[in-house]
Amino acid sequence: MGKVAVAFAAAAVVAACSVAAVMVRRRVRSRRKWRTVVEILKELEEGCNTPVGRLRQVVDAMAVEMHAGLASEGGSKLKMLLTFVHDLPKGTEKGTYYALHLGGSYFRILRVHLGGERSYLDVQDVERHPIPSHLMNSTSEILFNFLAFSMERFIEKEGNGSNSQGVKRELAFTFSFPVKHSSITSGVLIKWTKGFEISEMVGKDIAECLQGALNRRGLDMHVAALVNDTVGALSLGYYHDPDTVVAVVFGTGSNACYLERTDAIIKSQGLLTTSGSMVVNMEWGNFWSSHLPRTSYDIDLDAESSNPNDMGFEKMISGMYLGEIVRRVILRMSQESDIFGPSSSLLSEPYVLRTNSVSAMHEDETLELQEVARILKDLGVSEVPLKVRKLVVKVCDVVTRRAGRLAAAGIAGILKKIGRDGSGGITSGRSRSEIQMQKRTVVAVEGGLYMNYTMFREYMEEALVEILGEEVSRYVVVKAMEDGSSIGSALLVASLQS
Ligand code: ADP
Ligand code: MG
Repeated sequence: MGKVAVAFAAAAVVAACSVAAVMVRRRVRSRRKWRTVVEILKELEEGCNTPVGRLRQVVDAMAVEMHAGLASEGGSKLKMLLTFVHDLPKGTEKGTYYALHLGGSYFRILRVHLGGERSYLDVQDVERHPIPSHLMNSTSEILFNFLAFSMERFIEKEGNGSNSQGVKRELAFTFSFPVKHSSITSGVLIKWTKGFEISEMVGKDIAECLQGALNRRGLDMHVAALVNDTVGALSLGYYHDPDTVVAVVFGTGSNACYLERTDAIIKSQGLLTTSGSMVVNMEWGNFWSSHLPRTSYDIDLDAESSNPNDMGFEKMISGMYLGEIVRRVILRMSQESDIFGPSSSLLSEPYVLRTNSVSAMHEDETLELQEVARILKDLGVSEVPLKVRKLVVKVCDVVTRRAGRLAAAGIAGILKKIGRDGSGGITSGRSRSEIQMQKRTVVAVEGGLYMNYTMFREYMEEALVEILGEEVSRYVVVKAMEDGSSIGSALLVASLQS
């Protein structure tokens, strides 16, 4: 071999060695990156851990906070608001009634026709529209004019048979934000939640705002009740089954109400109702306890939200936030490794990942997780390998499992407060034989998260059995109430007329 040839061969060997070295270095780096991501996942799992012992602590804290909120105004983060609803619809109501429901993401309008028997409930023309986002931080006038305009269009579409000429239409206004009521027909907004920000409306009478807007449009409608969405769901539950004493909503936000004895509402002494009870709107979204498993993602989400230090429970369990928690985890994984490829600016955008995409990824049954790939692509992350897609599914699972289990603990807390959890409540111990006499208890549940996200629902129901035990669980029935908030509010108005 000549000198030149030798030099050539040597150079080729050196080149091959350095290519191999680069490849090995890359593989080592990529393994290290993968390890980083696995550690982030592990840390998330540990942070979101909800063993039954911890859930029981949350149950107790919920029951204690309920007591405190009933004892004095401002006594707890739970406002435990009076609703002035003491009689729920029985099933004998007759006539035609309307409901207009302002939720967190949707508004709905519907009409019910009642024939005086429980089986004769005819729900007509349910209209459901997304709330245009510009309305959420507009003015009260713009918001209510829009609602009145939508109501007018709804009525225009009615046939002549729906309402006799000259008779005022009775309307329920279902409102999914905290209100301080002075009667069932009036109440002022305490604060906005779920991303709404129309500050001049705080302190205003909500029913009056709607009535004014309806009058301005010349509509012959009477706002006969201002109803929290949870109270609507309770009303529909009770209408079908009088063992219904609790209602919970898992939609954009989350909240619960229940039937309480008036003598237990200590902060309103002397409150008399014919039934001896009143529905209490807990505003449980604002529940807080040091036993709640909080991660750095929750802390950052809260700090950067429009309502920091507020609605801590809601931010862990409701539809508005689950997607955002998952996004924050994926973003961190993508920043600390290259497993998601080149960084996507879309992924840095708050709230870009919606909870319905989380459920679509979580429940993706295709072999290659194509739905996960499609959603990630929409977030600007394309061509991720299968093992990364599986990792994303796992993140969805961890966040939703925690949400479902904490939701169950919340429900069990209410059952504990009213002595329906088999333990005799938080003040008295009961014997095993008394547990046999446990009353059948129905919990009405509604909201888009619960109705559409099967894994959330299953985790919640599984945890409820875990907390209560098989024996007591047999007496606790969770019933889904589709559109319960709106339909039930219309039924409540009907019951006020009869
Ligand atoms: P609102 O909160 O306006 O009363 P809904 O009760 O219908 O409306 O809840 C809507 C919310 O439910 C959505 O914002 C979303 O967070 C959640 N949601 C709806 N569909 C799904 C789904 N398929 N998977 C997971 N969450 C969903
Ligand atoms: Mg709702």
